[in-house]
Amino acid sequence: MALRSTSYRRMLFLFDVDYTLVDGADGHKYALGVALEKVFGFKFDINTFDYLGKTDKQIIKEVLKNKGFNDQLIESKLQEVVDNMVDTFKKVVDVFPIKVLPGVQELLDELKRRDVLLALVTGNVEPIARGKLDKVKLNEYFQFGGFGSDGIRRADLIRTAIARAERNHGFLFENNVYIFGDTPRDIEAGKEVGVKTVGVATGSHSMEDLKKAGADFVFTNLRNTQEVIKTLLGS
Ligand SMILES: [Mg+2]
Repeated sequence: MALRSTSYRRMLFLFDVDYTLVDGADGHKYALGVALEKVFGFKFDINTFDYLGKTDKQIIKEVLKNKGFNDQLIESKLQEVVDNMVDTFKKVVDVFPIKVLPGVQELLDELKRRDVLLALVTGNVEPIARGKLDKVKLNEYFQFGGFGSDGIRRADLIRTAIARAERNHGFLFENNVYIFGDTPRDIEAGKEVGVKTVGVATGSHSMEDLKKAGADFVFTNLRNTQEVIKTLLGS
């Protein structure tokens, strides 16, 4: 038992939230629409926008720029939009359904059993990521992460999560980090930072899309725990 724990202790697995761990972003999308309308006065349907794999602040900035608002105004109002979005999200979180994707719970249990360090890397600002995971009881697996509240660029969120692992969890980054995500942007960010990338085709992107983005490993979903573990950890 002790041997097994020691051999995996220094591995860090990072997980995206939407369409990697859970399916249920409608409350978040709704809250963003309400926030933009409150602060900037226009109605916005995120489904008309290429948002997949982008971070919350990146989405807000791009949407406002496309609408013709100037950079200075956008910067000055960015936090107000985020705060409004979080407030609305908290009010509606119980209304919109969220479900855990197949195999996720089992994989997290197995990784935890093997003493792999687990963290989040998500474009969601932290209160929204935590709100989604709380609803499906997944928060307890993730003590820390890199969130949309920590920065704009996804690669920087990965760096933040690794820095927190090193600072607070006795972790040393040396070819021992895997990142799981459902979009080419997750994979590209992982490659930029130099971590191993795992594409999961449980969102809008196919295995082919994720391979093309350069994923080191690709799965249809995380349903087969033993296959995922064996592929990534060898046994
Ligand atoms: Mg995602």
